[in-house]
Amino acid sequence: MSSEPNTAELSVLRELAAAGAAGLRTASQWQSWLWHAERFAYLGFTNTMLVWAQRPDAVLLHDYAGWKRLGCQVTGGEHGIRIISASGTGKVVSLFDLTQTEGPATVVKSHKGASSGIRPGSQDALTALALRAGYRVAGIRPVETPTIDWEAKTIRATSGDLPALAAQVAHVLVHDDEHQCGTVTATAESASVTFLICRRLGLDTSWITFPHVTSWAGSDPRANPAAVVARVGDRVLRAALKAFVCIDATTHPTARSVTGPRRAVVAVAARDSGTRAGTGTTARQRSDELLRVLSEAAR
Ligand SMILES: [Zn+2]
Repeated sequence: MSSEPNTAELSVLRELAAAGAAGLRTASQWQSWLWHAERFAYLGFTNTMLVWAQRPDAVLLHDYAGWKRLGCQVTGGEHGIRIISASGTGKVVSLFDLTQTEGPATVVKSHKGASSGIRPGSQDALTALALRAGYRVAGIRPVETPTIDWEAKTIRATSGDLPALAAQVAHVLVHDDEHQCGTVTATAESASVTFLICRRLGLDTSWITFPHVTSWAGSDPRANPAAVVARVGDRVLRAALKAFVCIDATTHPTARSVTGPRRAVVAVAARDSGTRAGTGTTARQRSDELLRVLSEAAR
């Protein structure tokens, strides 16, 4: 019951994701997407946009059968969050958020928590992550600047300076050599992966800055900035997923807040809602329209 081939719905979903991507223009909008995407990185860029648009406060997603296996029941009358199957079959799949289910308190409890903190073992996790990418980590004196020696496959960072180490590890995860690091797109990529790693480890992220999205994706609709945003978004999520697997295998999560920016992609688009060239429709109006079509299709 969770999937059906539906070309019309599929094209609505693709358009909704593209409208969301086109609405990501400023650094803070990009950061809002990252904040949301951390939980659903495994779904890929397009689906992170779709979840964000349909259920901005989603915390934990499974399909109907998946919830059943966990001993939970999807609450009657709840509409599924429609995403596009990652298997390449292009099927529409319905997922449900934790808040749309009823079941054992343990499931809820393990995904709730108000406090946050740095995961114990974070330094080891980052070192292991570097090693998996083929880089060893060498200590430097605190006065020295952290660097990557791409030739010697060595990251040099001050022991204990976790954010600095995370930033260097992010580079080797998302880039192959220093020649890939010079562009503004590369800066957006490495800053984004750094942000996601730091979030996962419970480290401070307030020091991380992002370039304005239009500075690397462009703003001329003819150049299709939404496609550039999607490509970079997918690269970032792929690198972050490698990091998450390693981090989750080597550290224990601390209790984490599940609240946060409840800003849907439509709201994000609204804050920067210049009229989209040629269409006479703002990204927000278009997203609203697409969401309405989707919810009607769900009835
Ligand atoms: Zn780089």
